[in-house]
Amino acid sequence: MSVPFPAESPVRLRAALDRLPAYVAGKPAPEIPGLTTFKISSNENPYPPLPSVLATLADAAAHVNRYPDMNNVALKAAIADHYGVGPEAVSVGPGSTGVLVQFVQAFCDPGDEVVFAWRSFEAYPIVTLAVGAVPVQVPLTPAGEHDLAAMAAALTDRTRLVLLCTPNNPTGPVISDAAARAFLAQVPPQVPVIIDEAYVEFVRDPDVVDALALQRDYPNVIVLRTFSKAYGLAGARVGYALSHPALAEANAKMAIPFSVNLLAQAAAVHSLGAGAELGARVDALVAERDRVAAALAGQGWRLPVTQANFVYFPLGPSEAVAFDHLCAAHGLVVRRYGGEGVRVTIAETEANDRLLTLTATFHSHLRG
Ligand SMILES: *Cc1c(COP(=O)(O)O)cnc(C)c1O
Repeated sequence: MSVPFPAESPVRLRAALDRLPAYVAGKPAPEIPGLTTFKISSNENPYPPLPSVLATLADAAAHVNRYPDMNNVALKAAIADHYGVGPEAVSVGPGSTGVLVQFVQAFCDPGDEVVFAWRSFEAYPIVTLAVGAVPVQVPLTPAGEHDLAAMAAALTDRTRLVLLCTPNNPTGPVISDAAARAFLAQVPPQVPVIIDEAYVEFVRDPDVVDALALQRDYPNVIVLRTFSKAYGLAGARVGYALSHPALAEANAKMAIPFSVNLLAQAAAVHSLGAGAELGARVDALVAERDRVAAALAGQGWRLPVTQANFVYFPLGPSEAVAFDHLCAAHGLVVRRYGGEGVRVTIAETEANDRLLTLTATFHSHLRG
């Protein structure tokens, strides 16, 4: 038996912690007898790792008595090759969330403002508040899109960073190239703009922002990407960014030494070379996404237009809870945002089919 701790700790914490919301991770799936449960709450890739990725991990595992390469030379070179840029433009970290934290720490002092859309990725307010900076959360449009005019109007001389999320998590719409360019023309060149493209591989809309081209035109633009979603390496923790070399250098200064571990580096390098195999899986998920979106429209749902591997149901307080419970009772673990709405990841066909059965029932309940 463990000795109980005293009720309170005498240690003083930073005031910033009082304002921090706790990160809500996707729940594990509960067991329902006779029913396969699907965890479709974290936008993970439903496919298991490729056999060649498992082999790479096994090879790398034989060397975990050694530290990984602290400078991530092979990983940065592989990413740089993939995009036709120099390795000095590449930042890496433990997930793109790690890369984001490194940028926020490099850019923001206490009291500085970070402008982003809301609702968006739940890590944004957390990483902002953690450094004592001030989140400036600009409401999405009713269609679940960034309100870029309102975001431009929210810029002040305290703005030190802007975050754009395309496709937006949790709603799904992309930012168009024209809209992004019009927005950037209004951002002072000393204010960095991170374009978080965690789901870019799932986008098929031809009008989507070309963040890589934008990054060449605007040296304050940073493109943030991850191996967690399309590449199926969420558990390995590795993400990256492309930016002006001076910003990449600042990013590296804020990294915890060796934070991209040996297994993650090896798996990521290998995965960049397995584009065809991984691309086929992404295409299959995109086809499922489009099938589900079309079926939902056919059932009468009018939802934000998703270009990611998830769909969002903006249901409002009582219906969001009811839909969450309906899904859970049928073995689907979804992500509910308080009383706002519910996000559901596109996963195995069986999970998607079960979702469509439940949404049909629920939509008639909404009308009834
Ligand atoms: C999932 C996600 C990420 C990626 O997180 P990792 O730390 O790379 O696993 C980043 N941004 C958004 C918007 C996401 O949804």
